[in-house]
Amino acid sequence: MERIYMDYAATTPTDPLVVQAMQPYFYDKFGNPSSIHFFGQEAKKAIEEARSKIARFLGAKEEEIIFTSGGTESDNFALFGVLWANSAKGNHVVTTAIEHHAILEPANFLEKQGFKVTYVRPDLNGLVSPEDIANAITDKTVLVSVMHANNEIGTIQPISEIGRITRDKGVYFHTDAVQTVGHIPIDVNESNLDLLSLSAHKFYGPKGIGCLYVRKGTRIQAYLRGGGQERHRRASTENLPGIVGLGRAVDLCKDRMQDEAKEQERLRDKLISEIQKRIDHVYLNGHPTKRLPNNVNFSIEYIEGESMLLNMDMLGFAASTGSACTSGDLEPSHVLLAIGRPHALCHGSIRLTLGRFTRESDIDSFLDAFPGVVAKLRAMSPLYDQK
Ligand code: PLP
Repeated sequence: MERIYMDYAATTPTDPLVVQAMQPYFYDKFGNPSSIHFFGQEAKKAIEEARSKIARFLGAKEEEIIFTSGGTESDNFALFGVLWANSAKGNHVVTTAIEHHAILEPANFLEKQGFKVTYVRPDLNGLVSPEDIANAITDKTVLVSVMHANNEIGTIQPISEIGRITRDKGVYFHTDAVQTVGHIPIDVNESNLDLLSLSAHKFYGPKGIGCLYVRKGTRIQAYLRGGGQERHRRASTENLPGIVGLGRAVDLCKDRMQDEAKEQERLRDKLISEIQKRIDHVYLNGHPTKRLPNNVNFSIEYIEGESMLLNMDMLGFAASTGSACTSGDLEPSHVLLAIGRPHALCHGSIRLTLGRFTRESDIDSFLDAFPGVVAKLRAMSPLYDQK
């Protein structure tokens, strides 16, 4: 059976060109970048080349890029590092109710340590109002953290407007750009960002590698302590092949991002309009236009998301009900609840995310199969019967 992958927001396949670039760094060029001999210096050079590519891509300086193990570590580092380092100034962080758990869990942990957290709620489309962020900032606020785009519903936040506010008020601004880097443009200066998290496996790089951008002058404490790597800001021997892969993934996205986004947008819009035409009682989650080019998220009334996924999986289609980390969990999505969807609709959601290797024929096959699965499940639903 041919399998069709429509879950690019969970992870992307590593591009074969990225794998090729990483290959020499496992055996031939395996040195520890901290070693002063030839092997070490060869490794160090590769790391600095990758750092420079990433910095240029984000509009940053090389010394502002700290390699990490991915999005989760970068998010934890940003929150803990900035709050701990600035406790003399204040103890308050402003974030949103729809962040990834990689922000919400450390925020929750900070609350247990006595810090204060304000969770700004988005509107029905998942959009966070810059005015609400401004109103949440107090003289004790140290950091504002608002994700660039939501991983479940795809809504893109007005981070440049929020950045103007944080700059005016003199508080640090972090964005979780895990779902946007490599997909839509982002420039740390245009958006007045002080910190930004990214993760390679969301844009055709390998898993387990990412970075945190930290603007020069930002007061931040190390989160991982040990050796003096990354200018004493992140201990541990660098993930050399991963870093090389991240650099190569950035190269490819720099060249292809614009065309890919355009094509994915076309396929996304086809999926959205055809699903709305072919199935009744469906609700699009997320903003109709300010959304990621590759994201489709629907609540399908009268059925369970998990049943849809399993049935589609049996037919060879890989989709998701929300973020990969929460699927398998019977709690409704915190994002759908935060945008005001009733419980029943939260349970009946399906997320389809497209990518570099999605073809129009994949979309057509999905559209041929999906209405039948919905009809079959609804035929078993007493609620649908009574409508
Ligand atoms: N932030 C967002 C918005 C994400 O979508 C994810 C991954 O799903 C993460 C953070 C965590 O990234 P990683 O898997 O690299 O730890």
